[in-house]
Amino acid sequence: MNTEGQKTLEEIQNFEGKYPKQIWSLFFSEMWERFCFYGMRGMLVFFMITQLNFAEKEANLQYGATQAFVYAFTFIGGLFADKILGFRKSLVFGGILMIIGSVLLSIDTHQFFFFGLAFIIIGTGFFKPNISTMVGELYKDGDNRRDGGFSLFYAGINLGAFLGGYICVAIGKGYMLSSVIDVAHRWNVAFGLAAVGMLISLINFHFTKKQLGPIGLQPGHPDAIVKSKPLPKWVEYAVYASTLIFVPLIQIMVSKTEYTDYFMYIIGPLTLIYLFYEMSKVDKIERHKLIAALIFILFSVIFWGIYEQSGGSLSIFAAHNLNDTILGGTVTLDPNGVNNSGGALFIIFLAPLFGMLWLYLAARKIEPNTIIKFGLGFVFLGLGFYVLYATRFFAVEGMTSLDIFTLALLVITIGELCLSPIGLSIMTKLSPAKLQGIMMGMWFLASAYGQYVAGLIGANMAEAREGDSLMDKLITYTDGYKQLGLYALIAGVILILLSPMIKKLMHGVN
Ligand code: GLN
Repeated sequence: MNTEGQKTLEEIQNFEGKYPKQIWSLFFSEMWERFCFYGMRGMLVFFMITQLNFAEKEANLQYGATQAFVYAFTFIGGLFADKILGFRKSLVFGGILMIIGSVLLSIDTHQFFFFGLAFIIIGTGFFKPNISTMVGELYKDGDNRRDGGFSLFYAGINLGAFLGGYICVAIGKGYMLSSVIDVAHRWNVAFGLAAVGMLISLINFHFTKKQLGPIGLQPGHPDAIVKSKPLPKWVEYAVYASTLIFVPLIQIMVSKTEYTDYFMYIIGPLTLIYLFYEMSKVDKIERHKLIAALIFILFSVIFWGIYEQSGGSLSIFAAHNLNDTILGGTVTLDPNGVNNSGGALFIIFLAPLFGMLWLYLAARKIEPNTIIKFGLGFVFLGLGFYVLYATRFFAVEGMTSLDIFTLALLVITIGELCLSPIGLSIMTKLSPAKLQGIMMGMWFLASAYGQYVAGLIGANMAEAREGDSLMDKLITYTDGYKQLGLYALIAGVILILLSPMIKKLMHGVN
């Protein structure tokens, strides 16, 4: 027991069974946060095109910019959590900002569009990396149940993503609850629902955080895991105040996509310089582990750049070239809906199986190490993109099979499960305690670059295709997917070939 009569880290980490019980607190908070986030994300492009009259290209660029900023801010959120706020306060602060943003969008989406998004961007930055880091702290170094825990947590992410991603936009478009919500208020309710999701997340966290013992306490708290001198209160308030001052600046930056380019050119190199500075202060073994983490982070940029076609070019592909029946023509579904939520649905079912698979293999001492899992992630991603390519062989007059497309989503999702939850897990294993938040922020910063790259690749594929026939479009897109599939396979092979070298850098971490 610690000074407040709560469990010590030791007691939490010595749990019995497959999962620590505290994981459920984090599971549900993250699930509802993702409900809010993916709810908003699912409405964004559609709302821009139909309600704000943006051109398609502009909406896509805007969407990419927003996503890039969201993930870029996780680095800042992780940094402030490590140094000043602690994970718990960061999470609550981020959650409140996300609620404010969603409420603003709900009150008047037209007027507050970029203002509300700015709050959500910064809020996600404070929330997202830090909850993932707390999951890692539930486990002792070397506990082989950690990857399984992250797989479960990842299922929570996708449960929220699936529900929010589907329900919010369906309400906005009038596919759900149209008899009780009049046309004029559908979007207000839809964005408001995202705020409600976030509120539930915070309420859940408030009532369950006691179980977390010392995990996530502010630096300087007597029970905090890393011992340090207490910080003066004004430092914490200064973080809150300066964040709020930044809101209008972010608002301007997201509203003009060329600023995103500048931002992306600057933020990556700056964070790397900062990381190298931190690396100079740790011992050699810790430094090696951080270099290994950085290799994973760099590869993940490639992964997300390819994977995140889903929000951009694949949604255009789905809109133009896919039939709307599935299971051999027996069920009618919106192909865009399938593209948005199919992957999340597969993950909900597959993540627990993967969690069990890793434990099963670990018990028999044949679990592939993280590098091989990453490599496999790329291999499945590549194969999935080859299946996307193969949709062209099922086309009739440019319209092709939603079944084959869904099969591609399944294969891609297997790749995601080999890489994304494992990536979260390995960040927590390779980072020293005082750099956990920053490294998790770096992991998500790679997603920011992935989103950014994905937008560029997608824009490239879509270029000058306005007058093309459906078949031409199909050929152009599927050629692009074949190319991306090949890049993914090459990246996977390189990773597997590099594995002995990376393994050395990891000093026994697996
Ligand atoms: N889909 C996952 C999530 O929302 C991973 C996102 C990412 O890292 N790009 O957490």
